Amino acid sequence: TWSAVPAGPPDPILGVTEAFKADQDPRKINLGVGAYRDEHGKPYVLTSVKKAEEVLTASKPDKEYLPIPGLPEFTKLAAKLAYGAESVPLQQNAVAVTQSISGTGALRIGGAFLARHYPHAKIIYLPVPSWGNHTPIFRDSGLEVRGYRYFDKKTVGLDFEGLKADLKAAPEQSIVLLHACAHNPTGVDPTKQQWAEISDIVKERKLFPFFDMAYQGFASGSTDRDAFAVRHFVEQGHQIALAQSFAKNMGLYGERVGAFSLTTSDAAEKARVDSQLKIIIRPMYSNPPLHGARIASTILGNKELYSEWESEVKGMADRIISMREKLYNTLTHDLKTPGEWGHIKSQIGMFSFTGLTQPQTKALAEKAHIYMTADGRISMAGLNGGNIEHFAESVSAAVKG
Ligand code: PMP
Repeated sequence: TWSAVPAGPPDPILGVTEAFKADQDPRKINLGVGAYRDEHGKPYVLTSVKKAEEVLTASKPDKEYLPIPGLPEFTKLAAKLAYGAESVPLQQNAVAVTQSISGTGALRIGGAFLARHYPHAKIIYLPVPSWGNHTPIFRDSGLEVRGYRYFDKKTVGLDFEGLKADLKAAPEQSIVLLHACAHNPTGVDPTKQQWAEISDIVKERKLFPFFDMAYQGFASGSTDRDAFAVRHFVEQGHQIALAQSFAKNMGLYGERVGAFSLTTSDAAEKARVDSQLKIIIRPMYSNPPLHGARIASTILGNKELYSEWESEVKGMADRIISMREKLYNTLTHDLKTPGEWGHIKSQIGMFSFTGLTQPQTKALAEKAHIYMTADGRISMAGLNGGNIEHFAESVSAAVKG
């Protein structure tokens, strides 16, 4: 029956982990996948998460099904975290929100909702480059995927002129995907001033903004500061779509905790949108998983756990920033590596776009047992005091040829 099914290509990001696992060298480093590692290179379970689990265990909760849109306490608190307690649409009960299978599921619910209900041409513009999964998520949702310029290879920074020109040239009413903070894969974010200009263009062209916020707290160490773009757009009167993930900022990767929301005109419209979200979700997976949402809502709803969580998010962001400093100093001052490396320090969040070429990344895997995606993206969180010297020396050698 399946003799005509061709073998598909390996996933470009998860494939890196497979190559890493097969390597037996003790110096090997995996900088492919975007999962936080502590200073010993180990996965990190947040203390606030462990405490929330203790609270949950003590309360002996049942294992009944959740409603289709998930745990009500969780979705309420997730929306508050993103939009802010002062948000006008939240106070007006005009935000439709549902729990989702982490950020990926939120994007997929959003894609499906737009494909079914968005009353204009179903074209979505993604930044070039973007997270590799965005294209298949939106294409499989039934949207036409196009790109807008984002990254300038020459400056290893934002191509703001290209971005503005492409958004201005997009057909009116197109959907535009924006990374709310800590852009993946480039680590390059617009400034506040640039966000304000993007908001104006989106308004002028009547574009529909869809925010992907997978790293709230990871860019600056503060969940409020990282929500700037989302809150600014809402304050400017835009109606937005928003995908949230708690994979990174709570370290709940495999628990699959996320939320999808849409700001609407009023409570009656919100209720109609909520009803259609349920109709989309029911035949996909019926209702979402329980445990991770309970952990997240326990943390978000408890003053002490919340402030402990905030300081742990800041701790993760700060460790990454210190690795950026150390890598920059080692590459430039100690090893006199040719080229400009300022972007290592200026880029934001989990990732750095190193500017390493494909032959260089290949050489690093073969000679130095260092694994990263072929575009030269590294997860800064994979670096630590024990491996950063080996990494910097190997990069320096690869660049010197
Ligand atoms: N959006 C972006 C930009 C991401 O980088 C990721 C994770 N790599 C996600 C969404 C979704 O991740 P998850 O489904 O694990 O929440």
